[in-house]
Amino acid sequence: MIIDIQKLSPDGNRFEVQEPGSILELEKDKFAHEDGMIDVDVYAQLVSRELVVRGSLRVPIRLLCSRCAGFFSTTLNVSSFLRAYPVQEGMETVDITADIREDILLEIPTYPSCPWKGTGVCPHSGVNLDEMTIPEPPSQNSTWDVLDRLKDR
Ligand SMILES: [Zn+2]
Repeated sequence: MIIDIQKLSPDGNRFEVQEPGSILELEKDKFAHEDGMIDVDVYAQLVSRELVVRGSLRVPIRLLCSRCAGFFSTTLNVSSFLRAYPVQEGMETVDITADIREDILLEIPTYPSCPWKGTGVCPHSGVNLDEMTIPEPPSQNSTWDVLDRLKDR
């Protein structure tokens, strides 16, 4: 999102815009996928020699559930986006895209979990929790098995 400083009114302007989810650059991410447009609702104002931008962000996103290991859809809210950009002589625009991305990524929980607390098929990820199997630990004898086999030769 680019803010045109020269078009700002002295009292500041409110911007309600949508940014594509692709600005989050999650294409190769294993734990989170973009899931639609980002709602940006900010107020931008020039205060002395700084552009102050504050507001909120809202983004639909798909996260890997740490409980059932399936992707579920949720919404992340950044309620207090706040940045100040120094404005130099001759500057016409300020690009706040990188900061929008940063604040949203910081909002992703470390261990996301879908709201499903039951058993059976998780309605969020479609994973059947009853059928989830815990991988068996490797046999403790395996190392000795190999040695035994060597001895037999
Ligand atoms: Zn889940």
